[in-house]
Amino acid sequence: APARKAGSKAAPAARQPPPLSSPGKLLFPDDKITKQDVWNYYEAVMDHLLPEVIDRPLSIIRCPAGTGRPCFFQKHHTAGLELVDSVRLKEDSGVNAHYLVVRDPASLLELVQFNALEFHPWGSHAEAPDRADRVVFDLDPGPGVSFDEVKRAAVEIRKLLEQLELQSFLRVSGGKGLHVVVPLNPGCDWDLTKRFAKGFADALAQQSPDRFVSTATKRLRKGRIFVDYLRNGRGATAVASYSLRGRPGAPVAMPLSWSELGKLKRADAFTLKDVPAKLKRRRKDPWEGISMLKQNLARWADSE
Ligand code: ATP
Ligand code: MN
Ligand code: MN
Repeated sequence: APARKAGSKAAPAARQPPPLSSPGKLLFPDDKITKQDVWNYYEAVMDHLLPEVIDRPLSIIRCPAGTGRPCFFQKHHTAGLELVDSVRLKEDSGVNAHYLVVRDPASLLELVQFNALEFHPWGSHAEAPDRADRVVFDLDPGPGVSFDEVKRAAVEIRKLLEQLELQSFLRVSGGKGLHVVVPLNPGCDWDLTKRFAKGFADALAQQSPDRFVSTATKRLRKGRIFVDYLRNGRGATAVASYSLRGRPGAPVAMPLSWSELGKLKRADAFTLKDVPAKLKRRRKDPWEGISMLKQNLARWADSE
């Protein structure tokens, strides 16, 4: 179904989500969290999550028997999905494939009914898959790196981006690290976007080789932060803000304001149990305005 058009006379009636089967199934057995709890969580955060994933090719992590049992990463549309849209995109191999696209709350909840726990959008929209509109610097601490070190790295990256006239936004991954997110508007082709992200990561690693690495080689990560720029490419994904993570405690990938970073103790501090209440208390969306912000890579391209 096409997305609702702004300015059209009567808004179409919202579609009904599918019925939920096996509501009592334990999806986080150690935390006694059921499929119904996960559904309720996604209903509660819908207004916040939906803008992060809507109209983007979307990968999901499904855990049909709960966390602790095999989960799988799904990129493609599959039989049985009736509300989730499908978009045909060319893959690296040159072959077309059908990707999942969520257009409304009902389609997102259909994925929950199919045991999706995590949502991972592309950094571009389905209608313009080759135009990157989000750059993500994914800070992955290697063994022995304290969370304070990761926080310090995020602040430093924010400052360096400001020198390029780029505003950035902060997210805890719900796992071990932090994400620094840069919106681009108008978007930029992936080739240039990737060069920017790699160049930025390489420069950090060059300036502070004792603190940062920019190559994916695992053995180089001990005591260092891997600045994972590989989230930035056509078909690459990063976890969506407000997505659950299929890890102990049902943590949430949570967007924060930069001023909240100081008191933050860990990357999995926000969970299914406390995020809906936190959202009600919150006076302001820490990422407010992110989709309206006009900024591009021109300053970086000039200095390259
Ligand atoms: P952490 O803070 O623990 O690093 P993270 O979400 O940043 O959490 P990473 O391992 O750094 O996790 O990043 C993995 C990213 O790569 C995911 O966010 C996901 O979008 C993407 N990804 C691509 N392929 C897969 C896959 N097969 N399984 C899981 N994630 C995948
Ligand atoms: Mn990471
Ligand atoms: Mn990573």
